[in-house]
Amino acid sequence: MDYVSTRNKAKQEPSAYAIATGIAPDGGLYCPTSFPTLTKADWDTLIEADYKGRVSLVLGKFLTDFSAEELAGFAEKAYAAEKWGGENTAPVVSLADGKHILELWHGPTCAFKDMALQILPYLLTASLKKIGEQRTACILVATSGDTGTAALRGFADVPGTKIMVYYPVHGVSPMQKLQMVTQEGKNVSVCAINGNFDDAQSALKRIFTDKATIEKLSGQGMMLSSANSINWGRLAPQIAYYISAYCDLAARGMVEFGDPINICVPTGNFGNILAAYIAKQMGLPVHKLICASNANNVLTDFFKKGGVYDKNRPFHTTSSPSMDILISSNLERLLYYVSGQNDEAVRSLMGQLAEGGRYTVTKEMQAALDELFDAGCCDDAETAAAIRRLYENEKYLCDTHTAVAVKVYEDYRARTGDTMPTVIASTASPFKFCKSVVEALGGAVEREDVTQLEVLSKLTGIEPPAPLAALRGKQPRFDRVVDKEDILSTTDLLAEL
Ligand SMILES: *Cc1c(COP(=O)(O)O)cnc(C)c1O
Repeated sequence: MDYVSTRNKAKQEPSAYAIATGIAPDGGLYCPTSFPTLTKADWDTLIEADYKGRVSLVLGKFLTDFSAEELAGFAEKAYAAEKWGGENTAPVVSLADGKHILELWHGPTCAFKDMALQILPYLLTASLKKIGEQRTACILVATSGDTGTAALRGFADVPGTKIMVYYPVHGVSPMQKLQMVTQEGKNVSVCAINGNFDDAQSALKRIFTDKATIEKLSGQGMMLSSANSINWGRLAPQIAYYISAYCDLAARGMVEFGDPINICVPTGNFGNILAAYIAKQMGLPVHKLICASNANNVLTDFFKKGGVYDKNRPFHTTSSPSMDILISSNLERLLYYVSGQNDEAVRSLMGQLAEGGRYTVTKEMQAALDELFDAGCCDDAETAAAIRRLYENEKYLCDTHTAVAVKVYEDYRARTGDTMPTVIASTASPFKFCKSVVEALGGAVEREDVTQLEVLSKLTGIEPPAPLAALRGKQPRFDRVVDKEDILSTTDLLAEL
């Protein structure tokens, strides 16, 4: 299986190269040149396998320069029961009205980013070896909260790596911040950026494209890599859980094997829902992919209003901060595929986005998108109402991001009359966004710190996840804040780690 840049498909690379380097030199994202399909024999194996086995099989289809033993070994370590509170890594909870909640937050940092970031360090360090790279890999991450925590946890004290996380100073929840600034490990550092997530992400892109910085670091024995969902090694492991959810539903008789489902995903950078799209291309029976957004509804408009992507609009800080994004990086990969792998078209669209913050896709691309996707959005009040409704009617407690997806799915169902079973990606533990969840249930939190956990726990009788409870009493290790203009200077810190 070969990988090419979305902006130049002339040069093919093996998956190890795509994973080790993260982003293509032309600024494009690495993509497989074709989609592998799942055979009847694959499905038979998948249904019988545990989560580790399912991940290994799916990864094996894409990472053909890795051996089956290598991948099985990585999955064994990444999804070890002690890190996930048991063997059921990605459980599906079936609720009323066709809702099947795929809980992706049982990992060490309580958000779905762990699903990929627990295995990425193994994939990345093995990839570096495969391409003969001797330098230390410096993982730079821009985060809207959850990626940073999960990446720090995944890479802490991994030999041959250093990690630096940048987060928007006012864009993360108190719990997310606490998780990041208390992260242990000799090779980790954290830096706040004055600005929002898009500022952090574009500042980081400056480092990746600054030749002088890259050369200087290289002289010091370091190379840059990324753990953001632009890295193919982030995306590939996420494909597996949609396939796993389908196997679980089929095994429980919730769907007849072969019958289609919908998948509804609360979306920010478009990574998680893109993984569902790829699962569909591999043969997962999916009717509609439903893209759920909060008040930052640039994607809803894109899908519902004639294929116009326009980021020139107010940025909203919402109760689902991990989705407060106006530039959804992974959409570029979708454009690549729905344009029939037209790298020239993608280059042009991305050029327009960089210049004027806006582009319009062709009629053909729009028709292809319409066929595959539905979309919707909701505001914070509707999100809170959804949390409350789900808790009162079905005794199910969900976080704000998941609630956005639940609300958008309910609207979709009412609007279309489509009652097909629908997998709703649940992307964070409700305890990670305590304040909003408590308020949605009619309570109040006085202090925005770990004591929130107890308030929510008292209110619902549900125990907080152990990794969050363990934050109590931990001292912050990092307090640096920089302006985005000064981001290049932060790379000096890497030498000190
Ligand atoms: C990252 C994140 C999202 C958005 O996922 P994308 O892959 O960026 O679309 C949604 N919910 C939570 C809790 C997240 O951490």
